[in-house]
Amino acid sequence: MYTPVPRLILHPADPRYVPSDHNEIFKALLAIGLLTETTCDKHTYLAGKEFINLLTFLGCSPEIKLSPQDGENFCSISIPGYHEDNMLLGYTSTIIPRCPACKHKVNDWKQHIHDWKHGNHIYHCTECQQQTPVAELNWRQEGGYGHCAIIINHIHPHEAVPADKLLSTLQQASQTEWVYCYANN
Ligand SMILES: [Zn+2]
Repeated sequence: MYTPVPRLILHPADPRYVPSDHNEIFKALLAIGLLTETTCDKHTYLAGKEFINLLTFLGCSPEIKLSPQDGENFCSISIPGYHEDNMLLGYTSTIIPRCPACKHKVNDWKQHIHDWKHGNHIYHCTECQQQTPVAELNWRQEGGYGHCAIIINHIHPHEAVPADKLLSTLQQASQTEWVYCYANN
């Protein structure tokens, strides 16, 4: 049975942003010590020595597993290939997106948004009639769209946030602003 992995997803704030150089981002994350060059799965790297300092853990300090020797569910970093389209990168089980114009909650969003996987699909609000690309609905960090993402595996929703240094490093390497969301789908 497929068990979803809880994740912290870093992605460009602009869902339409198409990265030009994959390798620049990898090199920048290697340089600040978020990850190592050692892979543990396809496109997935072991945590680097600064990993724990590049995230801010909320609440009581958890026991974070950083290597396969620590047992299952250790944190790792995935840099998957780019999506050709602006796609839903991940979402939490509790997310209810809202219309950005009238704040109306889109309950049962997968039923109401016919093509929810594609960020350019237009959602027509039943309350205010506003038409919004689904990537621009208010996902409140419980969902995000884009062509690319850096995925930190085995971080639960709202367990940790990226440190400013991590987001600014991504911005410098890509010349675009980065934000984050959580997923456990
Ligand atoms: Zn609306």
